[in-house]
Amino acid sequence: MSWDFETDAAFQKELDWIADFVRDEVAPLEHVLGSPWNIHDPRFELLVRPLQREVKARNLWACHLGPELGGPGYGQVKLGLMNEILGRALFAPIVFGAHAPDSGNCEILAHYGTPAQKERFLKPLLENAVVSCFAMTEPQGGADPNVFTTQAVRDGDDWVINGQKWFASNARYAAFYIVMAITDPNLSAYKGMSMFILPADMPGIEILRNIGVADDPEATHAYLNFNQVRVSADNMLGHPGEAFAVAQVRLGGGRVHHAMRVIGQAQKALDALCERALSRSSQGSLLADKQMVQEKIADSWVQLEQFRLLVMRTAWRIDKYQDYMKVRKDIAAVKATMPKVLHDIASHALQVHGSIGVSSEMPFVGLIVRAYQMGLADGPTEVHKVTVARQLLRDYTACDDLFPSYHRPTAAAAAGEKFRALLG
Ligand SMILES: Cc1cc2nc3c(=O)[nH]c(=O)nc-3n(C[C@H](O)[C@H](O)[C@H](O)COP(=O)(O)OP(=O)(O)OC[C@H]3O[C@@H](n4cnc5c(N)ncnc54)[C@H](O)[C@@H]3O)c2cc1C
Repeated sequence: MSWDFETDAAFQKELDWIADFVRDEVAPLEHVLGSPWNIHDPRFELLVRPLQREVKARNLWACHLGPELGGPGYGQVKLGLMNEILGRALFAPIVFGAHAPDSGNCEILAHYGTPAQKERFLKPLLENAVVSCFAMTEPQGGADPNVFTTQAVRDGDDWVINGQKWFASNARYAAFYIVMAITDPNLSAYKGMSMFILPADMPGIEILRNIGVADDPEATHAYLNFNQVRVSADNMLGHPGEAFAVAQVRLGGGRVHHAMRVIGQAQKALDALCERALSRSSQGSLLADKQMVQEKIADSWVQLEQFRLLVMRTAWRIDKYQDYMKVRKDIAAVKATMPKVLHDIASHALQVHGSIGVSSEMPFVGLIVRAYQMGLADGPTEVHKVTVARQLLRDYTACDDLFPSYHRPTAAAAAGEKFRALLG
């Protein structure tokens, strides 16, 4: 028997330290600084760098990476417990060297990069001396790669790239972009696209505009244009046609890490909901005593616990199989569930807070918008539900008559015969 829901005492001590540090030192940063990816802001040097040094000294930097890349090599279960805490503060992922998209970009550079690419791009990224960007989505569609048109054409020793990318997060701060482009238009996108590493200052790369999410004052999602961008063949990451194989390495872990952080965000909303219910009275009794508020609290807790168990079981399965393809259904299920959990719990918390719940002084509107982002970034919810259903259906066969196998009259008759024989 190895079902176990306990955390080792030694690791719990680390988690307790992380929780205190995030609450006291990291969470306040979001009230002062803008985007966590804006490492060029002089205040970042003053306020964030010392915290990063403290995390490194405690050996908690980039915990998703193994010792060969400067991390402690935590498995996904440990990362899950840690990321739940990091999810509670906007700056926590960058303070702990675990911020997307750089964490995923580090993984693919480590996995597929040549020694020269690792030296030039991975090394500074691991240290957060630079930040990076991942550009796959195009203006005409992200959920279906077959509509992509950005193309790289071979010219001697170089590739020449033309096209546009859309919603490339943090491109404005990035030192380099990892870009997917068609290299063989005769094949499907899944076989005919390749990955390139493009330094941001290359001639021909232009940010047409930066797009913000909701009323975020700092627009950070870039609409990019590539006009005759000439890049050496040495800048290809992986082999020609391997873009989707490379992307899977970053997306598998990345989606689960987002989900782990969403647990922390939803927990934050649930904590606020409970505190509010216990502190506000209306019509002679506490909100906590009103059944419709109790229902919101109970539903939120149950939804969060269900989700947390699904995420942690998925983390455990990734550790067990060490193969994202074997855990595809679980990861897709987590990805498809996460937006609704965050949306529902943040909405309950908002409602019970009344007018201040919708105000800019509370995080709930932001969390609800975040829930919608989680249902789009790394692929829309619908597409992940399709994956769950397809993977599940693989384990079934069509029934050969009107009845499912358990309920066929022939099966019932055979069972009746068996028991009649036993009963004499
Ligand atoms: C905050 C944020 C950050 C992002 N960061 C990045 C980034 O850094 N790099 C990057 O490359 N991309 C990024 N994206 C883009 C993201 O990957 C795309 O938004 C996503 O893949 C969907 O593509 P789309 O927006 O073009 O929607 P579309 O492909 O146009 O789909 C629109 C809608 O159609 C429906 N739909 C689509 N396909 C199906 C289907 N098969 N079945 C049923 N319904 C379907 C869904 O409701 C879907 O939401 C980001 C997006 C957001 C919101």
